[in-house]
Amino acid sequence: MANKNKMKVYLAERAGFCFGVKRAMDIVSELEGEEDVYTFGPLIHNPQVVEKLRQKGIKCAENIKDIVKGKVVIRAHGVSPRTIQELKELKLKIVDATCPYVKKVHKLTKKLDQEGYQVIILGEKEHPEVIGIKGNSENAIVIEKLEDIESLKSYSKIGLVSQTTQSKDKFKLLSDKLTDYADELKVYNTICNATEQRQKTAVKLAKQMDLIIVLGGYNSGNTRRLAELCSKETETVHIEQFSDLDKAILDDKEKVGVTAGASTPDYLIEDLIQKLESYTVG
Ligand code: SF4
Repeated sequence: MANKNKMKVYLAERAGFCFGVKRAMDIVSELEGEEDVYTFGPLIHNPQVVEKLRQKGIKCAENIKDIVKGKVVIRAHGVSPRTIQELKELKLKIVDATCPYVKKVHKLTKKLDQEGYQVIILGEKEHPEVIGIKGNSENAIVIEKLEDIESLKSYSKIGLVSQTTQSKDKFKLLSDKLTDYADELKVYNTICNATEQRQKTAVKLAKQMDLIIVLGGYNSGNTRRLAELCSKETETVHIEQFSDLDKAILDDKEKVGVTAGASTPDYLIEDLIQKLESYTVG
């Protein structure tokens, strides 16, 4: 049954595709219709988009061995130099859609490594972006939680970088703590503004809403973090599409906010807003 109260729907000032993801999508759209085009891993953490690409002939290979010939697209997260080398050895044509901001972290990591710094990366150990960054240093250490620092030795020189989607507060806390572990500490804040802007505007909206709906892949780390932050301010649900929403949650709400992770396309956001608004009208 439709919600008969005067529910209003608001969209966060910054939501959805970031620059790097949009760029990767544009690069891939140029390849539609060609034969033997693969993305190395899902292009973005959004199953609906990955399925659409598959329908257009862009296949997703989780493993290098699954790509026999043709073109392979490196997604915005990037890969390690070693993976690039393996792809080259297979004589595959590489289409590099690595986000330029991620590329910058690769460069800085390599530079720190060459200058003799023990590289420390703040990030999720198993995240593809972090694996790619780590591959630019011989022995980089990934710190996921601040407690992980307790097992660190002391070094003469430590160089700190971050996965682009980490929180600034956590990065600052880590860099403060690291001063006790090195004679010299070089810090490169490589957190991307897109993440911060999405987080800030989502929290700002959440403070004024009865409910926040966070739209994006369940496998998208930055979307999950948006939901986590919003849930500290108001009731929050994370869904991939309107059909996932338990509509009963809308019944007593007057102000509903929508935000979306950096890998959520505009058409899904627009579809959600439209359906929420027509649900209100009944
Ligand atoms: S979040 Fe930032 S670094 Fe990551 S892909 Fe988007 S623009 Fe690039």
